[in-house]
Amino acid sequence: MKTIKVNIVTPDGPVYDSEVNMVIAKTVTGEMGILPGHIPTVAPLVVGAVRLDSDKQTELVAVSGGFVEIRPDKVTILTPSAETASSIDLARAKEALNRAEQRLQSKQSGIDFKRAELALKRAMNRINVKEGNI
Ligand code: ATP
Repeated sequence: MKTIKVNIVTPDGPVYDSEVNMVIAKTVTGEMGILPGHIPTVAPLVVGAVRLDSDKQTELVAVSGGFVEIRPDKVTILTPSAETASSIDLARAKEALNRAEQRLQSKQSGIDFKRAELALKRAMNRINVKEGNI
């Protein structure tokens, strides 16, 4: 089966580098399935899981937005943060989820709701990827 190279890169460095059969990424306009030979494209990503299918396994990587650049032989994802399921600290993500929920329910003035909503999405995404729930 044909393969395509995948790199997931953050400002802190590379998080994933491998050859896979298919990549499924969540773009702002919906889910995109990427196979070897895909036409060149760039698309913005939402906070979500990237699924990487190879002969041996299916892996999930949590990404917090950014962009996917597709070339026929290579997929590059540039994102502010990314974690493989094994590197996610579940307790930390649950704490972040609680904090964000409290902020969103708070009646105090000065709450940045957009920021809390994004933190909530990142935390939920990490929990889902860690638990294999996507
Ligand atoms: P927190 O409030 O727990 O820091 P956050 O969503 O604000 O969560 P980010 O700003 O998205 O965190 O990420 C900061 C750094 O911490 C990144 O390198 C990211 O990969 C890492 N990170 C964040 N949450 C987790 C987690 N639950 N497990 C492992 N790494 C994490």
